[in-house]
Amino acid sequence: MAIKLNLLKEIASKDRSAIGEDINIKEVFIDSRKEVQNGLFIPIVGDRFDGHSFLLGAIKNGAIATLWEEGKELPSGLPENFPIFFVKDTLKALEQLARVYLQEVAPIVIGVTGSNGKTSTKDLIEAVLTTEFKTHKTAGNYNNHIGLPLTILSMPKECEVIILEMGMNNFGEISFLSNLAKPDLAIITNIGESHIEQLGSREGISKAKLEIVDGLKNDGVLILDGDEPLLLGEKSAQTITCGYGESNDYRISNIEQKSNLTRFSINEQDHYTIRLLGKHNIKNSSYAIAVAKYLGMNEHTIQVGLNNCVLTGMRMEKQQGLNGSIIINDAYNSSPTSMKAAIETMKQLDGFQRRVLVLGDMYELGNDEKELHRSVASVISTPITHLLTVGDKGKWIAEALLESNNDKIEVNSYHSKEELTKHIKPLLDHGSIVLIKASRGMKLETIAKDLY
Ligand code: ATP
Ligand code: MG
Repeated sequence: MAIKLNLLKEIASKDRSAIGEDINIKEVFIDSRKEVQNGLFIPIVGDRFDGHSFLLGAIKNGAIATLWEEGKELPSGLPENFPIFFVKDTLKALEQLARVYLQEVAPIVIGVTGSNGKTSTKDLIEAVLTTEFKTHKTAGNYNNHIGLPLTILSMPKECEVIILEMGMNNFGEISFLSNLAKPDLAIITNIGESHIEQLGSREGISKAKLEIVDGLKNDGVLILDGDEPLLLGEKSAQTITCGYGESNDYRISNIEQKSNLTRFSINEQDHYTIRLLGKHNIKNSSYAIAVAKYLGMNEHTIQVGLNNCVLTGMRMEKQQGLNGSIIINDAYNSSPTSMKAAIETMKQLDGFQRRVLVLGDMYELGNDEKELHRSVASVISTPITHLLTVGDKGKWIAEALLESNNDKIEVNSYHSKEELTKHIKPLLDHGSIVLIKASRGMKLETIAKDLY
């Protein structure tokens, strides 16, 4: 990117820039520890830290100018004539810069929201579109009011399509992000239970996700999970639905899941293969296919893109484990919906005698958290052979399974990850596959790490 001096002068109430000298900004950054070249530092005031305290570090790491909240004291030792642009609110200024830069580059904007599958869908869309377009996407999980404008500002000038993940914790947040990005295509991957504590009910969650329509361009298109009744009220000429049900515009069928690839058809006529695990990734791929078709791509080029897709880490990530076993590291996060989907995948894969579930606590589920954990047990059946839980909430899944007359599955609950890891190692051999999944806060990847 390149931010012009006059734009900075426009958003600033006053400035201390060297008169007559242009500043060629290549990057915008908020973390003073990041090394940049020709960077514009934007100090953000957070709950725990105030970015303004770190200006000198930012300069050491490559800042050539900074925004600065009016009235804040400047640090001593600041190089003379260092360009400073004073603004009322640095966060607002970041948004403003992103808005203007987005208008300047004017790519096709794709916004992705939903309870689960945002990052995976964003990665899939980018993998597919990059075969025909110059693309840019949200890095990792940079999906909030700070990550989204930073993603926009990191887009190269030549970008033709930008794919933006939009996350939220509460009402109003998706509306804000959508109004900032003004998507041409907006996708809602699914409605689960995440953040039910703040949003009250699944209806509330669905309403919050549908806020993505608020900023959708007038001729924009909404792509939805067509198997979710809560979303279907929105169906209109501008809506495309994807899913398994008969009435979907992009109907998935003929699913064949092997341990290393999955085949499926769309509307019985286009056939695709993905190298990703999990039924949910078929649906996520169907969104990418719908977007690609809408932008005029053909089946062959779409398949080339799907072949190249590598998902951001810890999402059904398949690794070789100890003694020839297979470890599915899905420890990035979990909700009851995504946990059940992952368990279904574990049941469908061919060729394993021992199928071990390592499941932990799920957070932010509100008053029904116990019931929601217990509901996971309803999908745990043969050919699953072992259920190992960790944490006080994870234990509810084990209790529900034990109460259900199960005598085929070995069930154990552990207090600590270390204890669990010790007990799982003897179960690993050529015929074993292990799924590891819980909420982010549980950090179950530490278990996975010990099993590779
Ligand atoms: P976050 O809110 O943390 O950013 P996300 O929405 O970006 O999450 P991903 O990181 O893509 O979601 O996937 C997280 C997990 O959600 C996956 O590992 C998988 O278990 C599950 N998942 C992915 N896609 C779907 C889907 N379409 N429906 C249900 N569960 C899904
Ligand atoms: Mg994400």
